[in-house]
Amino acid sequence: MKTLREFEAWFVTGSQHLYGMEVLKKVEEHSIEIAKAFDASSIIPVKIVFKPVVKTPEEIYQVCVAANSTPNCIGIITWMHTFSPAKMWIAGLKTLNKPILHLHTQFNQDIPFSEIDMDFMNLNQSAHGGREYGFMMTRMRLERKVVVGHWQDKEVQKRIGVWMRVASAWLDAQSVKIARIGDNMRQVAVTEGDKVEAQLKFGWSVNTYGLEDVLQHVNAATEIEIDALVAKYESQYQMDASYRKGGANFKAVREAARIEIGLRSFLEEGGFSGFTDTFENLGSLIQLPGIAVQRLMKDGYGFGAEGDWKTAAMLRAMKVMAVGLPGGNSFMEDYTYHFNPTRMFELGAHMLEICESIADGKPSLEVHPLGIGGKADPARLCFNVAAGPAINVSLLDMGSRFRLLVNKVDVINPIEMPKLPVARVLWAPQPNLKIASAAWIYAGGAHHSCFSQNITTEYITDFAEMAGIEIVIIDKETKINELKKELRWNDMYYHLAKGL
Ligand code: MN
Repeated sequence: MKTLREFEAWFVTGSQHLYGMEVLKKVEEHSIEIAKAFDASSIIPVKIVFKPVVKTPEEIYQVCVAANSTPNCIGIITWMHTFSPAKMWIAGLKTLNKPILHLHTQFNQDIPFSEIDMDFMNLNQSAHGGREYGFMMTRMRLERKVVVGHWQDKEVQKRIGVWMRVASAWLDAQSVKIARIGDNMRQVAVTEGDKVEAQLKFGWSVNTYGLEDVLQHVNAATEIEIDALVAKYESQYQMDASYRKGGANFKAVREAARIEIGLRSFLEEGGFSGFTDTFENLGSLIQLPGIAVQRLMKDGYGFGAEGDWKTAAMLRAMKVMAVGLPGGNSFMEDYTYHFNPTRMFELGAHMLEICESIADGKPSLEVHPLGIGGKADPARLCFNVAAGPAINVSLLDMGSRFRLLVNKVDVINPIEMPKLPVARVLWAPQPNLKIASAAWIYAGGAHHSCFSQNITTEYITDFAEMAGIEIVIIDKETKINELKKELRWNDMYYHLAKGL
C-alpha cells in the first residue's frame, strides 16, 4: 500500500428544513468549501467525498446505509452547521457500522463583532447544534471522535488525519487474514488468545498452516529468482566478502533468499496481510526466517514471532495507519535492562525479526549462529535505531475482553555493541524504567510488542474506540497506585458495559 487515497471519508452536514432555502443553500456552499479544502490538504490522507446536506430522518438513514455498503468508505465526518434535531439521527446512527468523527467547527473563525446580526447567528450555530447531536451519540453510547476547532486550523486537520488513518486500518482489518505458521511456541501464554472473539471484534481471520504449506513454495523458488534477490541484497545492504559469491557464507545467504521467495509467494497466494512462525516448528526449513521476515514487514506485512498472531495483526493495522509517514513500525521484544543509576534504559530486539523500516542507515546483512531452534545459521539484517520519540503497543486477551496497552518511550542514541549481531534499539520508557515496567507488568503487558516511530497514543486510542475495547496508557503522568485503580475500575466497567 503506497497511499491511502484509495480510501474515502464522507463529509456529511446535518441541518433541517426550519430555516428555509436560503440558509440551506449557504450551509451547502460552506460544506462544499470545507470538503474541498480537506480533500486538497496534505495533512488529510484519504479522499473526501462531499454528501448533500441531510435535513430529514430519511436522508440521514439513507446516507448511513450507503456508507455501510460502499466498500472503500472508511467512515463519515459529521458536522452540524445549524441545528439538526437529534431524534432525526437515531435510525441512521443505529444502522451505521462505520466509524464516525464529529467535527465541531464553524465556517467563520472569528465572531464578526461589528456586523453580527440575528441572521448570522441563525446560520452559524454549530456551538449548540453540535451539542444536540453529541447528546444523542452519548445517549446511544456510541464511540466516536470529537474534534473541536476551526476547520482551517492545522491541529484540527491533523487530528482528523489521525482518525482517517485509523479508520483506514479499521476497514483494512475487516478483510485481514493472518497465517499462523506452525502454531504457538509450546507452553507460552501471552501469545495465545481467542481467535473467534478477535474476528468478531476486529475482523481479523487467523488460521494455522503447516510448515509443508510454506515449504512447497520455498522448494519452488528457481535459481534465477534466487540470483535476482541476492543481487538486490547486495545493492541494498552492507555485505562483507564472506557473504558474496565465493565467500564462506554465500550459500547461507542464498538459502535465506530462497526462504524469502517462498514465504512471499505463500503469503501472496493466500492473500495474507500478516503471519507468525515459531522456531520450535520449522519442519525441514533450513534456517529460521530472519531477513525474509524483516523485509516482508517492511513491505507492510504484520508479523509476530512464536505464534503471536495478536501482535502480527496489530502491527499490520499500525502499518496501514502509517502509510506515507516518515519512520517505521516493527515487531519488538523487551530484552534486557540497563539498571545503572545514572541512567536506566532498556534494550529491545528479537532473535532476528526486527523490521527494516526502523533502521538508522544502511543495514548490514550477516549470518551468525542463533543458539536456539537447532537449525542452520540464519541470515539477518543488523542495524541500530535513531533517537526520538516512540511507543510500544501490546494487545492482550484478558479472558473476557481485549486490552490495548501503550507505553510512550524515548529512544536514545545507539551505543556500540560489536558482539551483538542483531537489529536493536535502546529506549528509556516514560515516566521512567522502574515505573513503566511495573505498570506494564501490572497491566499484563506481553514481552512482545509493536514498536512505532510514527504512530502516537492518539492513533491507538482511536483504534481501541473503533473496536470498543479497553486502552491503558503508560506515559509521563503514570503513577502506580492510580494505574492499579484504573485496572480494577476497568475490570468492573467492561463487565458491566454490556448492560449499559
Ligand atoms: Mn519472542
